[in-house]
Amino acid sequence: MEEKIINVIFFGAPGAGKGTQAKKLSNKLTLPHIDTGNLIRKAISNGTELGQKAKQFVESGKLVPDDLIIDLIKERLNTLLESKLNGFILDGFPRTVPQADALHRMLGDLALKLTAVLNITAPKSLLIERLSSRRLCSNKNCGAIYNLISHKPKVENKCDICNTELYQRKDDSEEATKERLLEYQNKTAPLEKYYRDLNLICDIDGTKNENEVYNEIEQVLRILNAIAPIQK
Ligand code: AMP
Repeated sequence: MEEKIINVIFFGAPGAGKGTQAKKLSNKLTLPHIDTGNLIRKAISNGTELGQKAKQFVESGKLVPDDLIIDLIKERLNTLLESKLNGFILDGFPRTVPQADALHRMLGDLALKLTAVLNITAPKSLLIERLSSRRLCSNKNCGAIYNLISHKPKVENKCDICNTELYQRKDDSEEATKERLLEYQNKTAPLEKYYRDLNLICDIDGTKNENEVYNEIEQVLRILNAIAPIQK
């Protein structure tokens, strides 16, 4: 049987649930999950040149300059192509029109096409609530994500999986969250029209619970014939 190639972008405001859903889809389909936020946070904690340049932007809730992010993605996509995988999941990239243009050129050079842009939507009040109640496992090899309202750890402030302490991301503070939502509105939201015009946007209702959102994503991918239908 011919292998299907799936190249998807997870799109949406901070707190919409892109990361959680992208991780889930990546595990289920064994596709690489390219999460720019995570790559940058790793670069910051490793003190690399990229990390040093990006730190101030990330912690204050600003977007990192396009050239830094585009170089990061170029390197990732080229490495992926060498390992001949069946596609990729982009999470948090592109976030500006110049980034989307750069991605378009990169994919063209690699003879690759996008399957879909999954646009996860949720109202601002829910985004703020989710970001302020998000906690993460501080064990780098685990990185489980919790929410003090909808997905509480069994023991307060401890990871259910590895029992390590949880922490709150600096940019989930009230001030940085405000800035991130502003950056989204000014620089990222215009991409919705960009991809709608290319007929690639699939809207996903991000207000539902984690499993319901995931099921909706699979359903959309089935309709697009990107994954196999349910066996009866
Ligand atoms: P995230 O984990 O996706 O919420 O991203 C955390 C932070 O990383 C963002 O607020 C930005 O500072 C930075 N970042 C991640 N992806 C991008 C991107 N595509 N363009 C610019 N900055 C980014």
